[in-house]
Amino acid sequence: MKKIAIIGNGVGGLITSSKLAKDLAKEIKSGEVSIMLFDKKTEQEFQPGNLDVAFRGTDPSKMRRPVEKLVYDGVKIIHDNCEKVDLPNRYLKTEGNDEKIDFDYIIISTGSSPDYDQIPGLRDANMDFHTNAYTSSLIYQKILKIKSGRIVVGIGGLPYKCPPSPNESAFMLDEHFRKAGIRDKVEITYITPFTRIYSADSINEVIEPIYKARSIESITAFNTDSVDATKKEITSLEGETIKYDYLFLTPPHKPADFLKNSGFSDEDGWVKTDKRNLHITDYDYGFAIGDTTNIPISKAGVEAHLEGIVVANNIISEIQGTGKRYKFTGRTQCSMETGFHKATFVVGTYDTPVQKIPPSTFNYMEKKVMEKIYWESLHGQYEWLFKYHFKKDYFED
Ligand SMILES: Cc1cc2nc3c(=O)[nH]c(=O)nc-3n(C[C@H](O)[C@H](O)[C@H](O)COP(=O)(O)OP(=O)(O)OC[C@H]3O[C@@H](n4cnc5c(N)ncnc54)[C@H](O)[C@@H]3O)c2cc1C
Repeated sequence: MKKIAIIGNGVGGLITSSKLAKDLAKEIKSGEVSIMLFDKKTEQEFQPGNLDVAFRGTDPSKMRRPVEKLVYDGVKIIHDNCEKVDLPNRYLKTEGNDEKIDFDYIIISTGSSPDYDQIPGLRDANMDFHTNAYTSSLIYQKILKIKSGRIVVGIGGLPYKCPPSPNESAFMLDEHFRKAGIRDKVEITYITPFTRIYSADSINEVIEPIYKARSIESITAFNTDSVDATKKEITSLEGETIKYDYLFLTPPHKPADFLKNSGFSDEDGWVKTDKRNLHITDYDYGFAIGDTTNIPISKAGVEAHLEGIVVANNIISEIQGTGKRYKFTGRTQCSMETGFHKATFVVGTYDTPVQKIPPSTFNYMEKKVMEKIYWESLHGQYEWLFKYHFKKDYFED
């Protein structure tokens, strides 16, 4: 029997397990293949929805689904976290079980999460919309009480997931306070370690004029070093100090703790992954997908999705002996809401630079369609639509 272990039941883990279970249904039924999905989390959240929770007051409970409902038939869920992966000897251990669990293939898709320890003072001073839907709802409760003052948003440190999301927070706050009729009393300041408002020049050209038109201040090349919650001050590595009344920064992110010193991760714990075939270093039976890889592209659900399909296809091809091989093209497509029912997209691949896409209501509608089909897509539905949309970037033969 071929045993496939998937670590993490988020976007990447669920989509990969669904694709494997669907295409290997015959082999699973006959006992030739088993798929194990490890994660302590019994509920998943629609993470992009945190923005609506934080800045529009959407009910956070609407952003959750039980994992049981998202998992494809034939996938065995193990509600336990992985604490060790021995790649050379092909076994793993979980926190709640001392036994070694063997595998023939392993896919690591353990995501990323905010790391408050990197910036002294940040934890006490900040409220964020990257931790979960509940922390996001606290932001909305706070902004309802704001009548005046300076709100600082932006990138508190690198890396973090969903590159456009800090910009979206600035646009959504602007929309909120305009609608409340007090925009002239509230200052919105966006800070970033990059030398322009958005790291990719083409997107910067699109959004810089909107920042100016909406009077959103931007402070670039600002590397947050520490925050003083008592004085309400942020200090940069370069020694610059900014005052704030309210702070909603996106914190730097970290990978799952067990990956540090795993033998196959870099010094920060991101898994060393081949950017095309997604093998972990030299192991052709070990793969990493999504936020947890050290591939220097966006940490976003769309990457986790497309990478998962590539990995699943390669494993299916090996098990069924078709001889086909698939590669990831580096495709990204993150939506960036610019407020008032408009959005742009950050679209690029390893070989094509990020495009300049003007904000439109049509783009906003596309983003809303994605929200509608999100849960079903984790369950492996709508692959025909993704294949049609992404064309050769769905995977490269
Ligand atoms: C505010 C916000 C807006 C976003 N907007 C977009 C967007 O518009 N478009 C987009 O493409 N992406 C967006 N994203 C990013 C997207 O949600 C993530 O990049 C995506 O979820 C990454 O998928 P993943 O499978 O790598 O990780 P996740 O989906 O985070 O899943 C990781 C899973 O691993 C589990 N895990 C961790 N450690 C262990 C362990 N030791 N053992 C077992 N399991 C473990 C976790 O419990 C979790 O369930 C957004 C994110 C946020 C926060």
